[in-house]
Amino acid sequence: MSGRLARLDEIAVTELRGVGPRKALGLEALGIRTLLDLLMWYPRAYSDRTAIASIADLTVGEEASVHATVTRCATRHIGGRRSLVDAVLDDGSGVALTVTYFNQPWRATQLVVGAQVVANGRAARFRGRIQMTNPRIDVVPFTGSGGDDIDPSAGETANRLILPQGAARQTGRIVPLYPQSERAGIASYEIEAFVGAAFERAEAEGALEDPLSERRRRELDLVSRAQAFREIHAPTSFAARDRARRRLAFDELWRLQVALVMRKRSAMLEARGIRHMVTGGLVAKYVGALPFPLTSAQQRAIEEIARDLAGPYPMHRLLQGDVGSGKTVVALATLLFGVQGGFQGALMVPTEVLAEQHLLAARRLLAGVEVKDAGRLSATRPVAIELLTSRTGAAERARIVDALAQGAVDIVVGTQALLTVDVQFSSLGVVVVDEQHRFGVDQRAALREKGASAHDPDLLVMTATPIPRTAAMTVYGDLDSTVLDELPPGRSAVRTRWIADAAGEDTAWRAVRAAVDAGHQAYVICPLVGAGEPPEDADGLEADEGEEQGEHPALFERGPRNGPGIATSSAITPGDRAPRTLRSAVEEHARLSTGELSSCRVGLLHGQLRPAEKDAAMTAFRDGSLDVLVATTVVEVGVDVPTATVMVVEDADRFGIAQLHQLRGRVGRGREPSTCFLLAPAADDSAAAERLRAIEATSDGFELADVDLALRGEGTVLGARQQGRNDLRLASLRRDRDLVELARTLAESVLDGDPGLERHPRFAHELRLFVGEEEARYLFRS
Ligand code: ADP
Ligand code: MG
Repeated sequence: MSGRLARLDEIAVTELRGVGPRKALGLEALGIRTLLDLLMWYPRAYSDRTAIASIADLTVGEEASVHATVTRCATRHIGGRRSLVDAVLDDGSGVALTVTYFNQPWRATQLVVGAQVVANGRAARFRGRIQMTNPRIDVVPFTGSGGDDIDPSAGETANRLILPQGAARQTGRIVPLYPQSERAGIASYEIEAFVGAAFERAEAEGALEDPLSERRRRELDLVSRAQAFREIHAPTSFAARDRARRRLAFDELWRLQVALVMRKRSAMLEARGIRHMVTGGLVAKYVGALPFPLTSAQQRAIEEIARDLAGPYPMHRLLQGDVGSGKTVVALATLLFGVQGGFQGALMVPTEVLAEQHLLAARRLLAGVEVKDAGRLSATRPVAIELLTSRTGAAERARIVDALAQGAVDIVVGTQALLTVDVQFSSLGVVVVDEQHRFGVDQRAALREKGASAHDPDLLVMTATPIPRTAAMTVYGDLDSTVLDELPPGRSAVRTRWIADAAGEDTAWRAVRAAVDAGHQAYVICPLVGAGEPPEDADGLEADEGEEQGEHPALFERGPRNGPGIATSSAITPGDRAPRTLRSAVEEHARLSTGELSSCRVGLLHGQLRPAEKDAAMTAFRDGSLDVLVATTVVEVGVDVPTATVMVVEDADRFGIAQLHQLRGRVGRGREPSTCFLLAPAADDSAAAERLRAIEATSDGFELADVDLALRGEGTVLGARQQGRNDLRLASLRRDRDLVELARTLAESVLDGDPGLERHPRFAHELRLFVGEEEARYLFRS
């Protein structure tokens, strides 16, 4: 069947004229194997060579094209084998243009007197004359009919320039610039030619036929697919290019949204949900025993969650809330709803430190809460809570695993260690994932499958860092969403100061000493554990497990990303001139405790300490027997010590926005005003400067998320969502907000009438092609 994009994926590039074995290898190195790959190899930029200027109007230093007649041409030999071709061009504007080529003697045969040419280059003034050195030249064939001249206002008319067959014009049009590979021996203009051939073939195959009807396209203000592919590669104008981009971006977003909505609905179709008992009073008792009233946002969230839990479908809900908005309280309420009906709950978090923190919080907040003891009639017992991480000792682990399988544990708090195969629950009813962008869809699914009963547990995903709405719709588009848009009362905003000069650092240390004198505490955060060691991921302890590992190379290419991880260690970010030695927690601990902070009790915390040591440090800091904690990003999420009022982040330019926001969230948790100092040289790296300025300017997580998205692009936000071909190459979650919404609406309305896409076979086929086999199996398994 023709009329399918999929058809193009069956045609190898070698079927194109001009693609021999060598070029095919080069294309392969770029990941281009089929015509579809070629057509989706979008230009990374465009060079505007449309506008034809008159020579008299040329501005020195600016690139321009002129259309003129060659009036003189001479070749000079200038010593050795070097030569110089000088030609003079005249366009009747009263000023002549000299064009000069070094060591290209063949230019003399191109620039024969009387020839009409279009020259594109940067104008310079040399000895009083206007000149271009090595301009691009296209010879304009003599047409004989003076009327067919080039319109100086250029644009689409310029495309009337006719060239000898096969040669791509370098002037008079918008030239696409492709991501290329010198090593692979493929140049941009070659790719352009291959793409052109692929496009012709695609049209001949009818493969660019539009899955959207004309009426729908008009409604959505989208050009046709064929036009979009043509104009993205060979734009007749920038406006046409923009329309093409919009259409292709829409297709990307639409495919993604259809997949997400299908995923969401098919999870509901299974309908193996548990109808949890949400009125048993256990949660009310827990809420009543809290040392504070719930914020109304927390209240709303708990109500929404209760409705989900009571319903027949398994909950798939995202809980977004800024740092300190009190997600833990909501998470525990969610787990308790399950517990009161006799089900088990699991709270999965990204780091060991956070797991321990949550365990403490859970035990504290649930201290007075009792559940029915199944063993003894009408007796009650405290809620049984356990901790399970990869550092849990073997014997302890065996005990907990056994207790989970027996149903003797009500709530287990853990890291990815919960996902290992030997962990089985007797009746897992509710899962809460505090994920900070870390757990992929697959891992979430894996935990859900631990139900081991005939039921699917309900799932609540919490993001520690808010993300913009359209990003949430894309990354978590298969989840319902709740936003905690309110902080508990009495919080004072954290004053944030970026200190760029080393001399100013003392201000920070003075503030730390003053806070300690006043009976408060402080954090000092460093990017490295020890000198010369790689930067520590927030989950340094768990890095040997799970998906994180594979991502590290990307850190060096892309710089700061969201949430966990930091920019680079000794690696040089693009803007830096020389690598700077970054500070390490071990060294700073030694330096500060004998230097600036010698009057304070200074502790050390990083991921490479033994669990007992970490525990000791954290406990000492929590109970006030340490004044200052020098730490790595292990304290990034969740750590909650309300008496800490000062934070000093060293080498702050090495952290991403979300990470700085999280780190800063460790202070400002009590009633005392807090301060956060960011130590970082005023780097050449302007992105780093923008991050620091943004953090200084606002403490609104949603606002920062937006800045972050703008600075970093979406790749890292999308993270695990990106799979197969289904990534967003053209669509931008920022620029194309409206398209995300349109795509979502259309996806929902199409699936409303045709849940399995049976009446849209061509689109179903296309979706399979793009989402990858595994996802397709999941989506279309019925
Ligand atoms: P986050 O949303 O960042 O995970 P936490 O759940 O860690 O926030 O809560 C931050 C702090 O606020 C904790 O000390 C918690 O006990 C406290 N807290 C949570 N809810 C409230 C509330 N309604 N009123 C006062 N304090 C609260
Ligand atoms: Mg939290």
